[in-house]
Amino acid sequence: MQAVVWLEEVGKNDLSVVGGKGASLGEMINIGVPVPGGFAVTAQAFRDFINRAGIADKLFEALSVDVNQESELHRAEKTAKKLIMEAKVPEDIEIAIKSRYEELCKREGKEVFVAVRSSATAEDLPDASFAGQQETFLNMRGAQDVFDAVRKCWASLYGARAIFYRVEQGFEHDKVNLSAIVQKMVDSEKSGVMFSSQPSTGEPLVVIEGAWGLGESVVSGSVSPDNFVVDRKTKNIMSKYIATKEIMIIRDPKTQKTVTIPVPVEKKEAIVLTDSEAIELAKYAEILEKHYGIPQDIEWGVEKNKIYILQSRPITTINNGKKPEPAAESSGKVLLTGLGAAPGVATGIVRLIASGRELDKVKQGDIMVTKMTMPDMVPGMKRAGAIVTDEGGMACHAAIVSRELGCPAVVGTKKATTTLKDGMEITVDGGKGMVYEGRVALSSAARPAAAAGPVGTVATKPITATEVKVNVSEPDRAAAAAATLADGVGLLRIEHMILGLGKTPNWYIKNGKSEEYIDELVKGIKIVADAFFPRPVWVRTLDAPTDEFRAMEGGEGEPHEHNPMLGWRGIRRDLTETEHFRLEVRAFKKLHEMGLSNVGIMLPMVQHVREFRKAKAIMVDENLDLEKIDVGIMVETPGAALTIEDFIEDGIDFISFGTNDLTQYTLAVDRNNENVAGLYSELHPAVLKLIEYVVERCNEAGVKTSICGQAGSYPEMAKRLVEIGITSISANIDAVATVRETVARSEKILMLNALRNKMG
Ligand code: PEP
Ligand code: MG
Repeated sequence: MQAVVWLEEVGKNDLSVVGGKGASLGEMINIGVPVPGGFAVTAQAFRDFINRAGIADKLFEALSVDVNQESELHRAEKTAKKLIMEAKVPEDIEIAIKSRYEELCKREGKEVFVAVRSSATAEDLPDASFAGQQETFLNMRGAQDVFDAVRKCWASLYGARAIFYRVEQGFEHDKVNLSAIVQKMVDSEKSGVMFSSQPSTGEPLVVIEGAWGLGESVVSGSVSPDNFVVDRKTKNIMSKYIATKEIMIIRDPKTQKTVTIPVPVEKKEAIVLTDSEAIELAKYAEILEKHYGIPQDIEWGVEKNKIYILQSRPITTINNGKKPEPAAESSGKVLLTGLGAAPGVATGIVRLIASGRELDKVKQGDIMVTKMTMPDMVPGMKRAGAIVTDEGGMACHAAIVSRELGCPAVVGTKKATTTLKDGMEITVDGGKGMVYEGRVALSSAARPAAAAGPVGTVATKPITATEVKVNVSEPDRAAAAAATLADGVGLLRIEHMILGLGKTPNWYIKNGKSEEYIDELVKGIKIVADAFFPRPVWVRTLDAPTDEFRAMEGGEGEPHEHNPMLGWRGIRRDLTETEHFRLEVRAFKKLHEMGLSNVGIMLPMVQHVREFRKAKAIMVDENLDLEKIDVGIMVETPGAALTIEDFIEDGIDFISFGTNDLTQYTLAVDRNNENVAGLYSELHPAVLKLIEYVVERCNEAGVKTSICGQAGSYPEMAKRLVEIGITSISANIDAVATVRETVARSEKILMLNALRNKMG
């Protein structure tokens, strides 16, 4: 048995030795593609370790649990990881790993930083894709640290998600092994992704996206990348687009940690690639597509003028990985219609999802089809090419999150889950609310898998008197939101952050993990507050209806309400479950103690001043300095709107219109009910009257006013709000630029009119 092999010693047929990732890297090296050097700790070494350490029986016994019981699953994870982390690794294996790392350093002429990645293999099916199930450790240096990281990769084979996934997919635990790939880190000055063929049409055009620093910013969509298109046949550059690049991810030379920093001013609008680099990249894309026989999605980096190819895998958005058939477009038979909730067009394969547990079915670019999205489905939504739901209206949470993620969505189709079948190919038009059979060429381009960058970034930003802010729900999108140059965050919804943890706040409280919960809140909010500092970030306290909680661990006992929208949510819940509210308040206190004085607190669903008073009393009791922190309310109920003077008297610092709710409560139209969606209008005169009344009263008293409902993203509403004198408007990430233009124009018209009146 060979415990370690150089990457160049393996190739595509060595899946059982080094897993899919290792085999692909080795194969690329062998065909002359510049891949960073390194070695693999073989799957057999891992197996040998388990056997010789004498933990195999105990390990596999610990894993035979009912994975649908969260507690059993987590017990299995804990026991298995402990066994791996504490067992003695046979000396020869340990020495082989450490000395191979030292040889790698010798080859490179210095002690190198490496990435240690997991590459899993299954005996029956060596190429089983376990992507994303196991861990990667970046920037490791020194033989001991590398050895420890390899052991951690081994242990990650027994993470709860990985165990659950294998059982669901019918893999036996003892047939799955893990190879750890130890590869020289590329400290990219610039990097990105490229598609060897146009990702939505399959044409022979290499589409390259690049930005400054490490590739993570482009892959995660947190930066607007430059875009180059190179014709594979003529090797001519067909187009170049230079984006405003706001942030970059680098390895901090002092701490050696990976950090996000603003792009230096002189590089923001500088072109990332030279023509010859773009052409050279296209050359490698072509080599890889030819070699593998199918279009590839490739990650690349440039360090000290040298190009490296970091990964290559089939493009999933083109005909599910098969070579595109140019003539395969369907005539466009309409399968479903619904509400066009998030614009964009995407073609992909249907994945029917019944609950958050099935998310692994959704691969990059697939179409996620579900009755109604729940917050624990967000990780799948991030990978999806588009989303289609049975239920919901324009202001339902599926629609809100899709818009934020830039993922086309059609909601409220009533019968998507019964009409569409797993595995069928469909085209979704999220602007028009249409779902077509097969691949249909529509005018709007599909969102390339890795190109979900910020939209609405502008090179020059008009200065407006009315502030234009942005709404955020996912900390992941903080950089994209900040790239819009918005004047602050008018609404940070923390529901998705919390519900994404998979456990209710009560679970943390009951299990004595309140501090952990506070830390999770601090961690998520801090990302957004840091990205915007010193611009204000109004964080809304938890506002999840009981039906959303029920899907989570700890949510089993949630009451079944006839209408959760009118039920136990927002401030009502905070004031009855004060223990939970106190944890949120402690998180706000911690953030302020960290110097994040830009964090303000916004209370949702308030309908009587009593509620505001009680919440304030708890904050004071928790020693929150209300002199230093902005505290305001959402105006989402006619009750709050019509008694706004009481709140003003009680000292609110600001109000923000939650028009999604204000509309449903004013018009008695359930925002989640597709049957009455036609009656839902934020521009209804009654809603506008309430808004006007509140703005007038607040302006008289010097209280700031804002809007953070979906209507704030509509130019027509923005124009009216400017006219009535609102202080700020908070829009979705993709609408900030348009709203800012509308605001600037409306303000100019007002000024011109005033001038004309004055001049008679
Ligand atoms: C609103 O009601 O307008 C709002 C912004 O809150 P949510 O959509 O989260 O209920
Ligand atoms: Mg609301």
